[in-house]
Amino acid sequence: MAKILEGKFFSNLMKDESKKKIEELKSHGIEPALAVILVGEDPASQVYVRNKHLACEELGIKSIEIKLPTETSKEELLAKIDQLNSDSNVHGILVQLPLPKAIKSHEEEILNRIDPLKDVDGFHPMNVGNLVIGKPTLIPCTPAGCIKMLELAGIEIDGARAVIIGRSNIVGKPMFHLLMARHATVTICHSHTQNLADITRQADILVAAMGKPRFVTADMVKPSATIIDVGINRVERSADEIEKLKSEGKNPKPTKLVGDVDFENVEKIAGAITPVPGGVGLLTVAMLMQNVVRACELQIENRI
Ligand code: NDP
Repeated sequence: MAKILEGKFFSNLMKDESKKKIEELKSHGIEPALAVILVGEDPASQVYVRNKHLACEELGIKSIEIKLPTETSKEELLAKIDQLNSDSNVHGILVQLPLPKAIKSHEEEILNRIDPLKDVDGFHPMNVGNLVIGKPTLIPCTPAGCIKMLELAGIEIDGARAVIIGRSNIVGKPMFHLLMARHATVTICHSHTQNLADITRQADILVAAMGKPRFVTADMVKPSATIIDVGINRVERSADEIEKLKSEGKNPKPTKLVGDVDFENVEKIAGAITPVPGGVGLLTVAMLMQNVVRACELQIENRI
């Protein structure tokens, strides 16, 4: 049976690291601050913003929540970002995605308006470029959190064969660069990849980031491999499962979250595996906190 890589355990280690640095910054009169802009009423986004706010509170980062109405124009949003960019007491800026329909097509322009030194999501082209050429920078939280977990867990990346399923700008592509920079031999797969299972079976480290519930099955996995399940998918519970949970005295909801990996069966042959929920999601928030601290440090270095 695989070792379960519990997100809570690793995110706590990461938060402890951040706490020490935050205390150090505060002793020099600097209070790290994160501004999160939420436009509209998307329920999932409200939960994500709330979780980020709670993490800030826990670590002593000042959390500035800016809630704007659904009908906010592109110009109004850009003006808000400009104001936060020029406020030296704000160290990190994040625009929660997705944006409402009316301004969605301007997403790139809006995200690119954030000062690269305050871009704690690591989406700005300047930060993406720095990642590609291997310069210190702000890196997207989910892949950066996964790498940090591998390092904390003592899983060897140098020389490993790594396979990533998914090539998004948020997860797959930055993960490729992070693994390659640590000397893994990396293959990235996507929806046009032929004979996917032949490739995934070669992976010592397999990253599933495609958004397809339980897609990665046990026959696609090399025995003893490390499996990182980034996927978050909401699926219906079967009638049998609901009955079983009820017979255990529970009151199950009709839906639940699952990853991109068939956890139940892959767990039997993998060496280590992240669960969903309780895995990568927690690392993402902990890494966001590390990025706020990092942004703070970068801004101080830049002023010297
Ligand atoms: P995207 O939809 O942007 O990208 C999905 C990728 O998977 C694409 O590159 C796509 O290929 C590829 N893909 C889709 N179907 C297949 C297939 N059948 N075979 C091979 N590749 C396939 O997703 P994201 O990267 O934004 O997110 C991926 C998952 O991770 C989602 O479930 C999301 O909810 C979750 N997520 C979780 C986070 C966390 O904190 N845990 C944070 C961010 C995302 P192509 O490019 O060819 O279309």
